Amino acid sequence: MRILVLGAGVVGTAAAYYLASDGHEVTVIERHPAAARGTSQSNAGLVSPGDATAWASPAALKTFLRALYNHDLGIKVRLRFDPYFFAWSLRFLRQCTQARLRANTDIKLRLALYSRDCINAISADTGIHYDERKKGILYFFRSQQSFDSGTDNYRYLAQHGLPIEIVGRDRLVELEPGLAGAKDRIAGGVYSPIDQTGDSSQFTQNLAAYAAEKLGVQFLYGTSVEGLDIEGDRIRAVMTSTGPVAGDAVVISMGPESGLLGRRYGIDLPVYPVKGYTATVPLEDESKGPTMGGADEDQLIGYSRLGNRLRLASTAEFTGFDRTHKPSDFAAMFRTGKELFPGAFDEKKAELWAGLRPMMPNSVPVIGRARYSNLYLDTGHGHVGWTMACGSGKFLADLVAGRNPEIDPQGLVYRG
Ligand SMILES: Cc1cc2nc3c(=O)[nH]c(=O)nc-3n(C[C@H](O)[C@H](O)[C@H](O)COP(=O)(O)OP(=O)(O)OC[C@H]3O[C@@H](n4cnc5c(N)ncnc54)[C@H](O)[C@@H]3O)c2cc1C
Repeated sequence: MRILVLGAGVVGTAAAYYLASDGHEVTVIERHPAAARGTSQSNAGLVSPGDATAWASPAALKTFLRALYNHDLGIKVRLRFDPYFFAWSLRFLRQCTQARLRANTDIKLRLALYSRDCINAISADTGIHYDERKKGILYFFRSQQSFDSGTDNYRYLAQHGLPIEIVGRDRLVELEPGLAGAKDRIAGGVYSPIDQTGDSSQFTQNLAAYAAEKLGVQFLYGTSVEGLDIEGDRIRAVMTSTGPVAGDAVVISMGPESGLLGRRYGIDLPVYPVKGYTATVPLEDESKGPTMGGADEDQLIGYSRLGNRLRLASTAEFTGFDRTHKPSDFAAMFRTGKELFPGAFDEKKAELWAGLRPMMPNSVPVIGRARYSNLYLDTGHGHVGWTMACGSGKFLADLVAGRNPEIDPQGLVYRG
């Protein structure tokens, strides 16, 4: 089959890789001049089944409502007239029950664990490197109170297949000597030894190059998707800035923009952009930086060690499709980064970035056939798209091939 994949982020590129590996003739249509120039360009770098807990929860309900009037939280909601945002918010709020939290987390954990195996298999099969580190991730808490309450979600993940170790501050610093300077600020944490880290931009670009060279995938860079040419129950072609491109099947993997395209064609695809910020700084003194990934659960900051660089990431901001940033957006991130790793970096050398998480109200990505007989979705991966991209691509390729998927598909197949 000739398959058109819309979007060359980590999700679309992984899907293209698996579809081409199955022998399909794959064309990827991407508006930017290269792969991974959207959200996949930068993130906290965490390949983290340990972060599979869905965002919508009874606690998030309170934070979300507080964020409407308190703009100093890690979660920021800028109220604006956007009916789509209100519709998304209502659906998000409906997911904020304990039962939905558990159900959504189950699905995400299953996909995240599977996807981690898929990333490692791709890397072994293709020889791709991406500043990867396979030393685990530490999720830690500042106060005893947040440590006690925060470990609940991790215990739940542990009951469902994620090996973890609950660690006090001595053990934590033994595992991560880079946190020695911040030991007194930390009450304890959770160590997830099978979590890993890596640069999603390098991974995506290297995978795109491999797919083009070895599997014949054609990348139409600098080409914007403008619409779909539909006849009956089929997509006949994708309308682009350089003219129509015909195909036998189409996969929408346009990250935060997926929902904009979907809703023009009556597809229930409530992907909303949730903005976040990253800073990437060279480590001045590598011995003072982290040796593995981590997340400060009270300050809502994730970080990873990418070669000799430190990547910091934070904030969830509901502000539409605005990708701009200003120096003050990074102030809290640098403050926390310096508290955790004193003397490790000079913030003046940081590369600053802002991007949009493609977020579903339930935090569960949508994968599968949608509305038209030859239209597929692989999108909405939200806060853990780097973690779940490869497993999603493999699952999608299995669906397209009509094969039994390797992963239990319950809750994963799109039913919109
Ligand atoms: C601050 C921050 C921290 C994060 N941390 C982590 C983390 O630690 N671990 C993790 O797993 N995930 C993390 N994420 C989430 C993760 O980065 C995303 O879920 C993932 O990158 C989404 O990939 P994608 O391919 O769906 O979207 P994208 O990377 O945005 O790819 C979509 C592509 O579609 C293209 N496109 C869109 N519209 C059109 C059009 N009209 N025509 C042609 N092309 C189009 C875009 O240009 C883009 O290249 C983080 C995100 C943020 C913002």
